[in-house]
Amino acid sequence: MTDPFKDEISIDDKQFIRNSNLNSFDEVSLEVLEEMSKLETNFPTLSTDYRLIDKIGEGTFSTVYKAEALNGIKLNSEVWNSPPLKKSKTSKKNPIVALKQIYVTSSPNRIFNELNLLYMLTGNSRVAPLLDVLRYQDQILAILPYYHHYDFRDFYRDLPIKGIKKYLWELFHALDYVHDKGVIHRDLKPTNFLYHPFKGKGVLVDFGLAERINLPGTCPCLSKEKLVGSRHKRLNVKGAYPKIDNRPPRRANRAGTRGFRAPEVLFKCTNQSTKIDIWSAGVIGLSLLMRKFPIFNSPDDTDAMLELSWIFGVDKLVKCAELHGCGLEISMKEVNKSGNLIKLLHDFLTKEIECDSFPEDSVVYETLELFNEEGDDFINGEHYKDHINLINLLKSCFKMDPSKRLNAKQILKLPFFSELIELDEEEVIL
Ligand code: ADP
Ligand code: MG
Repeated sequence: MTDPFKDEISIDDKQFIRNSNLNSFDEVSLEVLEEMSKLETNFPTLSTDYRLIDKIGEGTFSTVYKAEALNGIKLNSEVWNSPPLKKSKTSKKNPIVALKQIYVTSSPNRIFNELNLLYMLTGNSRVAPLLDVLRYQDQILAILPYYHHYDFRDFYRDLPIKGIKKYLWELFHALDYVHDKGVIHRDLKPTNFLYHPFKGKGVLVDFGLAERINLPGTCPCLSKEKLVGSRHKRLNVKGAYPKIDNRPPRRANRAGTRGFRAPEVLFKCTNQSTKIDIWSAGVIGLSLLMRKFPIFNSPDDTDAMLELSWIFGVDKLVKCAELHGCGLEISMKEVNKSGNLIKLLHDFLTKEIECDSFPEDSVVYETLELFNEEGDDFINGEHYKDHINLINLLKSCFKMDPSKRLNAKQILKLPFFSELIELDEEEVIL
């Protein structure tokens, strides 16, 4: 598909070259060179097939390297026909891969889960496929295609509305595919979605915390009947709170990254669904529209709830807590009872502009111009359609009740994406 938005993204490609992952060998720091040579020593079979080029990422559970596949990749799967590997083939260069070293301290189950899901999800251009796995004693290296992308921090303030549209289009397509396969990503955030703003292409990576869902959709906390016999009886939060809550502590998967967690994760819902990823995608979308990253920055779950109540209003959050059998009381008077996303956006951007934090030609002005003077609504009009549609999309990601939150497939059909849907349809006809 040709990129209709290429010319509308007003960022200068050159300014990114220094930040990009295109480092030539001599730009690699001594420290990284030492680290790579250590890996080659500890993993003797590695250098037969791969030449390490650079370190491109480091997380809690892994280090990722860029490498050249010296003997090509032997797997004969369809995946090899997809970019960027096709390019390497035609130019007769060796394929460039990303080599993910999963730390030996990770539990075997965790490693197996990640590799298994990567393997199972192979087959979609917006999700990184697993090309190979190398094992030496207790060490594991997952081989993925290398995707040239830009750091989110380098473009989130500069994407115009059409650029945001393409980013979210790619993201929701990736989610749609993964969710259709019955997988929750659980750790959706910008560093796990590799995006190239000039090509308008994005790829979802990092299934380290991902899990399969048992039952699609419903949260048992939402249904009174299902609670009968449950150890976690609904607390009558409308009355007085018991001094001593002697119910057993709730256990639920809370894996993920603070700031991107859906309310049901914070309230320890025991049957979380793919809708937790939709919430996280909404947080990314809001970040792009507010040109603020990160949006939420709380040190713990309690603060995270407070942050959500600032944006969405206490009333909604208290109701949401009730849905999951929890009580929530916020005694700070300053916190809004009912949230207003549009007002929040207006107030935040106005403040930022007062502080001169955006250059004069920033794309942020196209967003700010849309508000009426009070900042509690958008000015209506054809020109502002995209912004209004995006706000509506975000609202559908931020439904507190996961059963009311739209899924990726429904979101892709929202009016915000209509011009991209038309382009896709045209392509099919051609
Ligand atoms: P972790 O579990 O440690 O977070 P990730 O799979 O998220 O590991 O990878 C860490 C970082 O490495 C990513 O944020 C990205 O910058 C880089 N990375 C991972 N996979 C690739 C890839 N296939 N191509 C290019 N860069 C990658
Ligand atoms: Mg990651």
